[in-house]
Parts: sequence; C-alpha cells; structure tokens
Amino acid sequence: MIEVRNIHKTFGDNAVLRGIDLTIQKGQVVVILGPSGSGKTTFLRCLNALELPEQGTITFTHDPMLKIDFTSPSIQKDILALRRRSGMVFQQYNLFPHKTALENIIEGPVYVQGKNIAVAKQEAMVLLEKVGLVDKANLYPFQLSGGQQQRVGIARALAIQPELMLFDEPTSALDPELVQDVLNTMKELAHEGWTMVVVTHEIKFALDVADSVVVMDGGVIVEQGSPEDLFHHPQHERTKAFLQRLR
Ligand code: ATP
Repeated sequence: MIEVRNIHKTFGDNAVLRGIDLTIQKGQVVVILGPSGSGKTTFLRCLNALELPEQGTITFTHDPMLKIDFTSPSIQKDILALRRRSGMVFQQYNLFPHKTALENIIEGPVYVQGKNIAVAKQEAMVLLEKVGLVDKANLYPFQLSGGQQQRVGIARALAIQPELMLFDEPTSALDPELVQDVLNTMKELAHEGWTMVVVTHEIKFALDVADSVVVMDGGVIVEQGSPEDLFHHPQHERTKAFLQRLR
C-alpha cells in the first residue's frame, strides 16, 4: 500500500495543492480526473518528487517500508529512494533523442541501479516484446511514431521494476489513431497487477480499467469512488459540473 498524506504545493502565491490525501492499494489503478489547472499533473509530479511539496508524506508500507517526509532534512537522499520505487511516464515521452529505444530503456537499470549491461539489455528486450516493439530496439526516437515512442517510455519506466507506475496524460500528445495502442498497453499492465496512478482525460479508460477514480478541483480531492459510482452517481456538485462538461 502507498499512503500519501497532506501534500501541499505552492508556486509563488498560487496554492496549487492544498492538502491531498490518497491511499493506493497494491495492484490498484487509480485514475485522476479534473478540470484544467486543478493540480493533477502537479500532484503526480510530487509523487515522484519532480516537484517538491512544502509539506506532506508518502509512505510505501511494503517491506522495506519507506516514508518520505518532504519537510525532512534528509529529503535529497529520500528522493533517490522514492524514484527507485516509482516510474513515471510523461505526456511528451521525454526519451533521450540520441539514444536508441533499447538504450533509453537500459538507462535507469544500468546508470541508476548499477545493473550489468548485458542483463539490462536482455530484460529490456523482454519489455520491448511486452509493448510490441521488439523489432524497433535499435531505432532512435525520431524514427518512431508518437505511439511507439510512448510505448518505449512505458518500457523505460517499467525497467526499474517500480512498485508504483505514474502516467501523466500519456495519450494527450498523440494523434487519435495512435491513442488506442498506448491505452491497450496500459490495460495489459493493469491486468498484470501493476499499481498505477493515471492522470488522463480518457473517460472510457477510466470506466474500463480504474479501480478507483479521483476528481480534483482547486487543488483538493473533491470526490473519490468506483468508476461506476463516480460517473453514474456523483455526489459532489463540482464532480457533477465537471462530468457535465465532458458530455
Ligand atoms: P491540465 O489538465 O491542463 O494539464 P492540471 O490539472 O494537470 O491541468 P497543473 O498542470 O498541475 O494542472 O497546474 C495547476 C496550476 O499550477 C496551474 O495554475 C499552473 O499554472 C500551475 N503550475 C504548474 N506548474 C507550475 C510551475 N512549474 N511554476 C508555476 N506554476 C505552475
């Protein structure tokens, strides 16, 4: 289980996250929805310490337990530990342009985890197989479609075998015809039991795959529930208003 408590993040005088609590069970897929500017991406980036909250804790309860307190003096060391347990998939893929698909995937295992390069390559090929790109191992990002690049991005995040996979609007930069391949890859990961937090505007994905849906607005979680409850019986006025705008 991963327990996130009381995350606060401010940019200048803009209080973007105002006390976020979220509990993520092992193997759960949590989808975060909400209007533009509600703080979804900022929250996800806090979960990987790409943004540093002023306050809050993240606890991985699974052995070995890891508790990150963002107010702690040892936060820099804790950030490295956190990034070994969570992998991030970005909207804009963020692949190294001068490295092949395979080289992108082995980067974390070899240079962060100190894994043997031959072993890392073998494991990367298994991951490329999983995302349907085994024949693209030696191609550079510019030789791949957006959807293929994003699937390399997913394989790269998986390569460190994280406990938590974070997806930040992974399909929103893609041409519509490429979206489904990426969503299918994510669906497979969900079925394999990966623990995932996904910021997305793909409502059908949320309905089909999420165990829990969170609606954020104004830097707080206004409602959380099963996809069925949330989409068909929303309780909060702001959830209703948000869903109304999607229809
Ligand atoms: P969208 O659905 O449009 O991506 P979002 O819910 O993901 O929106 P965020 O990207 O988290 O929202 O942004 C929330 C607020 O934080 C916005 O007002 C944004 O301008 C601000 N913000 C985000 N990152 C920064 C930053 N690095 N510096 C200053 N302000 C920021």
